Amino acid sequence: CGIVGYIGHRDAYPIILKGLQRLEYRGYDSAGIALYDGKELNISKTKGKVKDLKTRLENEISTKGKVGIGHTRWATHGVPNDVNSHPHYSNSGNLVIIHNGIIENYGTIKKELIQRGYTFTSETDTEVLVNLIEDVKKQEDVKLGKAVQIALNQTVGAYAIAVFDKTKPDEIVVARLGSPLAIGIGDDEFFIASDASPFIEYTTDAIYLEDGEMAVVRRGKDVKVREIQNDKLV
Ligand code: GLU
Repeated sequence: CGIVGYIGHRDAYPIILKGLQRLEYRGYDSAGIALYDGKELNISKTKGKVKDLKTRLENEISTKGKVGIGHTRWATHGVPNDVNSHPHYSNSGNLVIIHNGIIENYGTIKKELIQRGYTFTSETDTEVLVNLIEDVKKQEDVKLGKAVQIALNQTVGAYAIAVFDKTKPDEIVVARLGSPLAIGIGDDEFFIASDASPFIEYTTDAIYLEDGEMAVVRRGKDVKVREIQNDKLV
């Protein structure tokens, strides 16, 4: 299982695709990529190998976009199939997430969200998390970074996540607890990955998040790492 993300001035697709291939050694059963082309958020995902994703994606969606996220899944909640593959959308279609790990209390959260009118298309814990983030964002009227933080403080489990909001396309929010996550810092560009192998030829400047840390990776800004629990800058 692995995650890859890119935000910068290059085409995100080849970087993410190659990155996912380099993370194949971690093991997986499905793969998927979301790309934002400046207007639309396009997602393609499939059970199977990264090479199967490549064929499918190039037939299915535009490969354009300078920002995107990609995932290889090792199923824990829900069988390996196309629908359960990541990325997962929130109900509004604005938020998209990739996640490695397990949200242990997803059942309770899912019940509450269903009572509030949320619907789910997959069997995953991950789709519950992205809708919890959306719900917090709406209820509390906060920015994405804050919504992710509040939502994660309501979860029990393990994760490396990357979250993207197509209404705020200049940033990707990342967080880690128990699954690795690195941020590569280039010239006006950022790379996100489970380890440095997807971005090693672009930059040697990297931040490795510690457990319990998160960051908002934003175009034109320095990456500030915070503690998920208490908001302290690290
Ligand atoms: N728990 C999530 C799922 O089953 C993520 C699995 C993973 O680590 O890839 O979809």
